[in-house]
Amino acid sequence: MEKKIRSILSKINEPILSKDFSTLGFVFDVNVKGDSVKLRLGITDMDYTDFPGIKNKIAGKIIEEIPEIKKVEVDFMLGIVNHDNKQKDVVLPGVKNTIAIASGKGGVGKSTVAVNLAAALSLEGAKVGLIDADIYGPSIPIMLGINERPRVVQSNGVNKMLPIVQYGIKLMSIGFLVEDNSAVVWRGPMASSALKQFMSEVLWEDLDFLLFDMPPGTGDIQLTLSQTIPLTGSIVVTTPQEISLSDARKGHNMFVKVNVPNLGFIENMSYYLTPDGNKEYIFGQGGGRKISDEFKVKLLGEIPIDTEIRVTGDSGKPIMLSKPDSDSGKIIRSIAKNLILEINTRNSSPSKSAGIELIV
Ligand code: ADP
Repeated sequence: MEKKIRSILSKINEPILSKDFSTLGFVFDVNVKGDSVKLRLGITDMDYTDFPGIKNKIAGKIIEEIPEIKKVEVDFMLGIVNHDNKQKDVVLPGVKNTIAIASGKGGVGKSTVAVNLAAALSLEGAKVGLIDADIYGPSIPIMLGINERPRVVQSNGVNKMLPIVQYGIKLMSIGFLVEDNSAVVWRGPMASSALKQFMSEVLWEDLDFLLFDMPPGTGDIQLTLSQTIPLTGSIVVTTPQEISLSDARKGHNMFVKVNVPNLGFIENMSYYLTPDGNKEYIFGQGGGRKISDEFKVKLLGEIPIDTEIRVTGDSGKPIMLSKPDSDSGKIIRSIAKNLILEINTRNSSPSKSAGIELIV
């Protein structure tokens, strides 16, 4: 019976990606009891507007093709398509997508974006891990208010580190491996061996996304790290001003050089919202859009300069977790949704680049 139902689901399309539920890996549970069946299926967007329509379609088809079934209940949850990559599956079994968050230069808000994006993806229903690989200044433990260090456990006879779990996000940081205030010079090979350790010696278990907060810049260290991780893609964070854009171009080109697709740019510090509601373009306007158009890559979103983003980051509970319904929180949420759509579209049609226009 379950087989028959799964075969029917292989002929019905998930409505957003227009690929069938089975191919996408979106059939999470099929539970048959007597003449009724309960299904748990994945969908790319939990804000999809016609759940009754798709539920009726699925129930109708099953009842039509299997007359013994009288009742069908369908529950939807967020579905993330696996990035088909053998190297990743060996090093990080259970992790569906690995994403490097990079910037051409420091101080553009890369770590702030990484931590808020991780939180936003988690709020959408994704299982998220975050590796703070910023060897120059691992700041994510502070942004997430973490004071403990990871424990080591035995898993299948091997010692593994348990990631710290904070607000539902699994975290590892280079900061956990070095003493506070110690002047450790992380040369390229050391950094990449630490990163390898984070991939193979940490018990990540099942994750939809493992984000890497990369060190800023485009030097040898960054290049080595980009080659060390089997990446689904990168995200390049920039501010709108020309000096940051020229470094973001280098960031984009670095990933292209190692065959890692750039999933999109995020423009941070796009404008300041004055108390009377006007937008002040402190660092210029439209830089993120310009660079996205130039490389034909998505602009995933534009985040304003917001005192609350800075304050909440410093206090250990980023804005996405402390004020998700603020204007900035809503913008970061839309970035997470754009990223999910971009990744699911790419992963479900690997030969094509994503063709769906995003809403920014
Ligand atoms: P990077 O990782 O690129 O070096 P950080 O994320 O550490 O940058 O951010 C640098 C500083 O700017 C931090 O103090 C952070 O709180 C602040 N910041 C980042 N983005 C914003 C923003 N959109 N609005 C206000 N402050 C921000």
